[in-house]
Amino acid sequence: MALDSDIGIAPYDAPEKDLYEVGEMPPLGYVPKQMYAWAIRRERHGEPDKSFQVEVVDTPVLDSHEVLVLVMAAGVNYNGVWAGLGIPISPFDSHGADYHIAGSDASGIVWAIGDKVKNWKVGDEVVIHCNQDDGEDEECNGGDPMFSPSQRIWGYETPDGSFAQFTNVQAQQLLPRPKHLTWEESACYTLTLATAYRMLFGHHPHELKPGQNVLVWGASGGLGSFAIQLINAAGGNAIGVISDEEKRQFVMDLGAKGVINRKDFKCWGQLPTVNTPEYAAWFKEARKFGKAIWDITGKGNNVDIVFEHPGEATFPVSSLVCKKGGMVVICAGTSGFNCTFDVRYMWMHQKRLQGSHFAHLKQAASANRLMVERRIDPCMSEVFPWDEIPQAHLKMLRNEHKPGNMAVLVQAPRTGLRTVEDVVEASK
Ligand code: NDP
Repeated sequence: MALDSDIGIAPYDAPEKDLYEVGEMPPLGYVPKQMYAWAIRRERHGEPDKSFQVEVVDTPVLDSHEVLVLVMAAGVNYNGVWAGLGIPISPFDSHGADYHIAGSDASGIVWAIGDKVKNWKVGDEVVIHCNQDDGEDEECNGGDPMFSPSQRIWGYETPDGSFAQFTNVQAQQLLPRPKHLTWEESACYTLTLATAYRMLFGHHPHELKPGQNVLVWGASGGLGSFAIQLINAAGGNAIGVISDEEKRQFVMDLGAKGVINRKDFKCWGQLPTVNTPEYAAWFKEARKFGKAIWDITGKGNNVDIVFEHPGEATFPVSSLVCKKGGMVVICAGTSGFNCTFDVRYMWMHQKRLQGSHFAHLKQAASANRLMVERRIDPCMSEVFPWDEIPQAHLKMLRNEHKPGNMAVLVQAPRTGLRTVEDVVEASK
């Protein structure tokens, strides 16, 4: 570990202390010994209001390729919910640390750099993508880093996520922060946007092409709201699915060609046994859902890609309505992991089932560029103060959150601030 000892110049008159209150600014580049963090412990696994607790912990120590970031704001996403529950795996089974700091999205200020870091300097304003790898194997060098045996998700498979005053990340995780966005807007989008980007453009030869039709589940959610915008930007037609009429206009305004309310159909859950009356009833209802898609795409036009993440509840229908030679691309199983489908349609219609997981740096950087260029909106729905991080996750767990992506303030003293100078001024 080596930090640049010349760094540590206060941009304003701030005392050097071992611990700062949340929202209190240390001098630029000064690293206190300890910090506040929302920590999960194995014995506390459960819903977020039980599993997340504020603790004072040691500030992370940097390795030579790492960067310490003062977290201004963090994004709320399902990773925090799963980490708290310990489902599908406990983060402690991945990293073995005593406590786990969740949070896989953040905006912040580079506060210290390891001695091998070349591209970033103290004071840079950044967002953080959540993919880490050791960079040494063949997948990281000419392959796909998401296939690397060392690939891991920061804040889930590492113990040092963004729900803390400081986080240490690999230098390659940093991306430039869109200057037109506030800290909280910048913090809410990277995980879901980059995941949606890889799902739509990362699986050759099924990369989305202009004019193609895509069925997007959870179209008003984090992943879905970016899928709709990316499909629109690429010249495709997005058909969004919602469960509440109040979300319809939001999804249409993002650029969807049409919206279907899944509450109007009864074909959800595992596939009934083939050739039973239950199967016949399911099939009739699934065909009705397919007809609702045709009402948007035109008769006979099945979808080229199904953008899947609810999993168990929707998978039988996804694999049926996808067109011949099309792709069902899936990155999660929010409603359950026991996905079922009628394999006859998979083989006879030669459909592709494709798993997808976050994104590699190039995909995350390409997605971020779209945000920097203002082609994509972060769709920030709500901002919570530091104290309400568990409540924000509880909302997500109960599917009670508003359309879009949620953020929480960490060091940013209030909402609406855009720069380091803004924060320094607001902290005086
Ligand atoms: P959100 O909660 O923002 O959106 C999910 C949407 O899914 C909801 O808005 C809801 O929309 C819909 N949904 C929920 N339950 C069901 C159901 N039973 N049937 C159909 N639709 C349902 O979550 P995110 O978009 O941020 O994340 C979705 C999932 O993707 C999570 O499980 C998350 O962990 C995972 N994920 C995986 C990543 C990866 O890299 N592998 C990265 C990012 C997320 P509505 O009720 O309106 O239909």
